[in-house]
Parts: sequence; C-alpha cells; structure tokens
Amino acid sequence: AYDVCIVGGGHGGAQAAIALRQAKFAGSIAIIGDEPDLPYERPPLSKEYLSGEKPFERMLLRPPAFWAERDVTMLLGRRVTAVDPAAHTLATEDGATIGYGALIWATGGSPRRLTCAGHDLAGVHTVRTRADADRMMAELPRVARAVVIGGGYIGLEAAAVLAKAGKRVTLLEALPRVLARVAGEPLSRFYEAEHRAHGVDVRLGAAVDCILGEEGRAIGVRLADGEVVPAEMVIVGIGIVPAVEPLLAAGAAGGNGVAVDAQCRTSLPHVFAIGDCALHANAFADGAEIRLESVQNANDQANVVARILTGEEAAYHAVPWFWSNQYDLKLQTVGLSAGHDAAIVRGDPAARTFSLVYLKAGRVIALDCVNMVKDYVQGRKLVVEGIAADPAQLADPAIPLKQLAG
Ligand code: FAD
Repeated sequence: AYDVCIVGGGHGGAQAAIALRQAKFAGSIAIIGDEPDLPYERPPLSKEYLSGEKPFERMLLRPPAFWAERDVTMLLGRRVTAVDPAAHTLATEDGATIGYGALIWATGGSPRRLTCAGHDLAGVHTVRTRADADRMMAELPRVARAVVIGGGYIGLEAAAVLAKAGKRVTLLEALPRVLARVAGEPLSRFYEAEHRAHGVDVRLGAAVDCILGEEGRAIGVRLADGEVVPAEMVIVGIGIVPAVEPLLAAGAAGGNGVAVDAQCRTSLPHVFAIGDCALHANAFADGAEIRLESVQNANDQANVVARILTGEEAAYHAVPWFWSNQYDLKLQTVGLSAGHDAAIVRGDPAARTFSLVYLKAGRVIALDCVNMVKDYVQGRKLVVEGIAADPAQLADPAIPLKQLAG
C-alpha cells in the first residue's frame, strides 16, 4: 500500500507527485500509469515531436533520476481497472491489488473514435500518446496524401506538420468553421486561410461516410456526398472520452468526466480527480461544470490536491490558459471565450499579428493572441479581474492592454 496512489502518469499525475514532495509530504507515493514511458509533455506530439524537431528525451517532464531521488515509485505499463473505495484498494489489469491512503485519479482521456466503416483500418490514427505519434511517424515516409478529420487544435496542428513535410493534406471539418467550439469566428477564418495558404485543402461542413480500405489498410475517405478523398494516412482528431469508467463503476458521481469540488475531491472518500478527466465548476465559465483539456488545468489542479493532502487550504480558481503552434504562428489564449457576445479584433490578421478580445456584457472574458505575446501577458489581468473596457480602445493596438487594466 502507498499513502498516495496516483493513477495516470501524464501532466496531472506527475505534477501531483512533484507538488507533494515540494510541500514536504513525507508519505509513500506511487504513480501507476498504463504508458511505458516516464511522464512526458504531451503537446509536442502534434507539434515538434511529430515534425521530428524535438526528440523524446527533451519532452520528459523531469530527468529519469528525479523520481527515485524524490522517492516516487513508478509502476508503469500498468492499467488500473477497478477501485474499491471501501477497502481503499485498486486493481490492475495484471491482477494485482494495491492499497492507498488517498487516491489521485489523473487518467486524462482516450481519443474519441469514429464509428463508421473503416475506422479501424491500418493507417487510421489518433494522437494522444507517444506510441500513437511513433506509429504515425513510422508510416510517414510512405505517405503522400493525408486526410485529417476534425478541425480542432490537434487536427490543425497535425495538418500543419504534414503540410510542412510536403504531404498533400485534406482537412475535413463537420461544422461550418474550424475551432468552432473554442474560438470566435475571426480566429477560425484566420486559421482556415493560413492552412489554405500552406496548401491544405480545408473542407468545411464535410460529413464523413466511411474510410475505404484495401487489404486492411486505409486508401481514402468517402464523404457523405459520395466524393472519395484518396489518402494513405487518416488522422482522427475529434476529441476525447474521459477515462473514468473504473471510478464511475465504483460509485463516483459524474458522467462526462468525474465530478469534483473546488478541492478536486470526488464523491468517493479520499479520492481526488484532476486534469482532463475532472468535471469541475469553473469560475471563468460562470461556474458551469466543465472539463478543461490543458496542461495549465492539470498542473493547477494537481497543486490544489497536493496542498489539501499536506493540510493546507486550497481551492481551484486558476485562470485557464492554452497555446497552439501551427506553422510560424504562436497562439496563446487566456480565459474561456464560450458565451461571448462580442469578439473584437485588435491588430491586423493580414499581418499575422493580432489578438481577439472576447467580451460578455461589456467585460473581458478571454483573449486569443496570435504572435502577440505582449497582449497575452498584459491582457491576462483584464480576464482575471473581468474588467469592463471600451471596445474602441480594445480594438486599437496602439493602446497597450495594461493601460486598460487600470
Ligand atoms: P494525460 O496527460 O493524458 O495523462 C493521463 C495518463 O493516464 C496517460 O498516460 C494515460 O495513458 C493514463 N491512464 C489512463 N487511464 C489509465 C488507467 N486506467 N490506468 C493507468 N493509467 C491510465 N494542452 C495545452 O495546454 N497546450 C497544448 O498545446 C496542447 N497540445 C496537445 C496536443 C496533443 C496531441 C494532445 C493529445 C494534448 C494536448 N494538450 C495541450 C492537452 C494536454 O496534453 C492535456 O490537457 C494534459 O495532458 C492533461 O493532463 P492529464 O494528466 O489530465 O492527462
């Protein structure tokens, strides 16, 4: 048994162990993770790792020796299949039972899969783990044409990498614009134009009928209107399903994720949940119950749990932030734009340096900054404090945002 068992060795799980030791937690800690690798950064999987620019060793969250030095037991390549909250034990796929004092559930999610015919053919990929990226990279030399299904951040990033590598890329988005769920229309149109300028065939309102195969391998995607887009590789980026079945089966409240309170406690005693799988009331979404899929959220929730477990007071109240790299465009976002009633363009998208400022009832709720680090840094305060700002001033890039922060 361990005083703290952390299930999932990704961003949240790793940070929970790091923060516990930083807070001088003296008990035993184990991380049980189903991936074989030590905790690593996930974002490069659709960016610099996929493009070959960043080797895996440089993605490790800590040097290999760190974990032993901090007395964190790594039980890797092991999947947790069940939790018994009354007995304070969990079960792993290989038949072991492991006791815990407190349990931190940090399992993220598995990529949502297509259900249409051909979804399981060779050459059809999702991007969540190093193994996923390695499989894609091994095939890339034989790929001339790729179809990316899903115009969210991961799909767009993968499309950018493949286009830069000289592949002919078609991007299929079911909705009328890319990034529809996370960004305002001007940002969507900007990224669509950028991808087209880099040769990506962006198809909006595109419905996939099935993936066609030959001898078990994908050869193209058939659209609902009958058109076939030939491809040797298909990348599916249509979101994740939170990996919470064992917890829900043990009686934890939840559904689309496991429900947690401001201390990241689930409804089960001594069981916490953090990161992509944690359904929480978010202050920056007007208290709505949401899951956030970002490194920031995983880290900040991990820090909250570490403080609670070391007897401090803490509540999750972090401002959400995120980034995405496509071509030479560095997007940084702060706040949550969902529910905005105005989106103000600040700067010139044609110059590829601009921000989008989102307002709700006159107050700044979020910013998307493209190659605009200054706005990202200075605009943060506007979001954190929900400052009411004059739209005309916000639209004027000559007026620094810090001047509007009061
Ligand atoms: P994860 O990091 O996914 O870790 C969960 C771990 O738990 C995984 O190793 C999983 O295999 C394991 N696991 C699951 N179930 C079990 C089980 N039953 N037993 C044992 N182990 C289990 N965020 C950003 O902020 N910026 C970005 O630019 C960005 N880009 C991204 C690009 C890609 C390709 C991906 C996939 C994600 C990206 N994200 C980005 C999101 C970010 O990586 C996640 O929000 C973050 O990893 C969440 O951390 P987590 O600990 O909740 O989950």
